Amino acid sequence: MLVLPRKLHQSQRGDGEPRIRSAAARLARLGCSGIELTEDRGSLILEGTAVSYQEKVTAGWIAAKTGFKAVVNDLCVPGLPEETLAVPQVTDSLLDGTYYDVIVIGGGVVGCAIARELSRWNLSIMLLEKEGDVAVHTSSRNDGMIHDGFAARPGSKKAEYNVRGNRLWEPLCKELGIDFKRPGSLILFHSALAAGAYPLMAERARRNGVDGWEFWNRTRVASEEPSVTEDQHGAFFLPSAGVLSPYKATVALAESAMLNGVRVVLDACVAGMELEAGRVERVVTNRGTCRAGVVINAAGNWADVVAAMAGDRFFSLHQRRGTEVILDAASGASQRHILGMPRLLQIKAKTKGGGLVKTVEGNILVGPTATESPGREDYATRPQELRELEKHVHLNTSLSMSQAITYFSGVRPCTYEEDFIIEKSERVANLVHAAGIQSPGLASAPAIAEDVASMAVELVSAFKSVGPRPGWKSMLPGSPEPRHLSLENRASLIEQHPAYGRIVCRCEEVSEGEILDAIHSGLPATSMDAIKRRTRAGMGRCHGGFCTPRVMEILARETKTPLWAVTKKGPGSELCIGPTKAGPTKAGRP
Ligand SMILES: Cc1cc2nc3c(=O)[nH]c(=O)nc-3n(C[C@H](O)[C@H](O)[C@H](O)COP(=O)(O)OP(=O)(O)OC[C@H]3O[C@@H](n4cnc5c(N)ncnc54)[C@H](O)[C@@H]3O)c2cc1C
Repeated sequence: MLVLPRKLHQSQRGDGEPRIRSAAARLARLGCSGIELTEDRGSLILEGTAVSYQEKVTAGWIAAKTGFKAVVNDLCVPGLPEETLAVPQVTDSLLDGTYYDVIVIGGGVVGCAIARELSRWNLSIMLLEKEGDVAVHTSSRNDGMIHDGFAARPGSKKAEYNVRGNRLWEPLCKELGIDFKRPGSLILFHSALAAGAYPLMAERARRNGVDGWEFWNRTRVASEEPSVTEDQHGAFFLPSAGVLSPYKATVALAESAMLNGVRVVLDACVAGMELEAGRVERVVTNRGTCRAGVVINAAGNWADVVAAMAGDRFFSLHQRRGTEVILDAASGASQRHILGMPRLLQIKAKTKGGGLVKTVEGNILVGPTATESPGREDYATRPQELRELEKHVHLNTSLSMSQAITYFSGVRPCTYEEDFIIEKSERVANLVHAAGIQSPGLASAPAIAEDVASMAVELVSAFKSVGPRPGWKSMLPGSPEPRHLSLENRASLIEQHPAYGRIVCRCEEVSEGEILDAIHSGLPATSMDAIKRRTRAGMGRCHGGFCTPRVMEILARETKTPLWAVTKKGPGSELCIGPTKAGPTKAGRP
């Protein structure tokens, strides 16, 4: 519990006093007090102290219900330090003196989709990503589910973008040369009473514009999904739910953007912005300072920090961790649809509830959990979260947790309004935000990209004539995956290029040829994780036990680096720590 209010005042710039009073009353009623409330240009600012992170988040949620544009939650939690951006080790002047019509900050699925969408226009475009690859953060730490759009609150941006994005992904995947499947999702009813909610669910799906839904009775569910739990009373079937590989999609979007002239700069962290006359004039990075026509904030869990750099922090993000367990690919044969049973929710109001997702590669993903937890990049997995996930496994009677091959966590960047922010800045003339992109952000990404790109084009048009880019290429030429070829085609490929016949990852049947393609691609894979994201080498049952040394050798050979300098995910994550015996190693480390 918090102490009683200490201070209640209103900034000179706002006109929200009645709403501030109402917010204070609500917070006090719920035991949240000791908070200073002010209004700044439509946003409600919370300052003071909360005794725990959970209380800070709760106060933010309550404040978000009081009718302000957004909530900036600056409550301090004793013992919990403010997180700061870790700037990459790389420092050079690569970007000094450069100019781009549009600079996109963030190489997740949203930033990469925006960059590709912008590449349709005759603009100079640069995407800056602080990590050594794209899809390092939330965009590679999710279910890969292209949600149908049912779960989002009707009228929200999430609902609108999800449904539009769902329709866009299938043709987009064809252009990008990546797999897309539409298994459909079954929301199982745990009781006859719960099944009575069907008309309400149908009404919500209708309001959100979801593409199709049906009621399946218990018998139909059992016949379509033979391994389903007996503890079900029918289901709400949503046929439009799809799946794809989120990291492959993000890499492919970036490569497609590059094919159409976008410059992607990795290890480039935006650390500041310099404004003149209400516009971002210069973007400051560890790789130099560049001038910008328009800046797009697609910085995921750091989007509020990036907004602050431009003096436009009108919202703040809180983090919701999600943990997932991956079951062996053999588990996938026992399940056709995505399965969930909402009574299993831990935090009912803030998540779609998790379940069993059959991934596009055929593994079953169990999860995710949803836990409010500080740490914008805290990817630790905790026993209690894994135990919580066991409940979902019973939805499919053929599964057991002993089929788990690994587990991971991701962090959702959430606003207190629990909705996306997709808009031109009200304060900075040449800034566009794609922020608070929590789930269903992957599903929504292509639709978000369409709108953000058109906002940016409109802004650029004020100082430059903008037209379609001549010769824009929609199709991304992919590289061959021998495991998906007929024996005949495989043999012919291997005859021409023997490297496709040398299998490096036995679990996933990944050949040396595919690893070479990844290393020498438009967006080269320079770490073990980057190779994994592009080829799946190391993602199988043994999880790299067999292929890791082999992939390291190929990477070292092709990039002409010593073996001991090969990293898991960039500088500081070298896999070798030193020779096991005295004297120089084969790898050449002294
Ligand atoms: C467990 C879990 C499961 C999920 N499941 C689904 C699902 O099934 N379907 C779905 O639709 N959504 C799902 N989501 C949500 C989805 O993953 C996200 O909405 C989406 O990935 C967000 O993409 P993004 O590009 O905005 O963020 P990110 O992928 O985090 O990308 C932002 C990038 O910006 C970079 N960056 C940040 N600051 C800077 C800076 N200062 N300079 C340069 N670069 C910077 C970061 O390094 C990062 O790479 C899930 C999320 C979680 C956590």
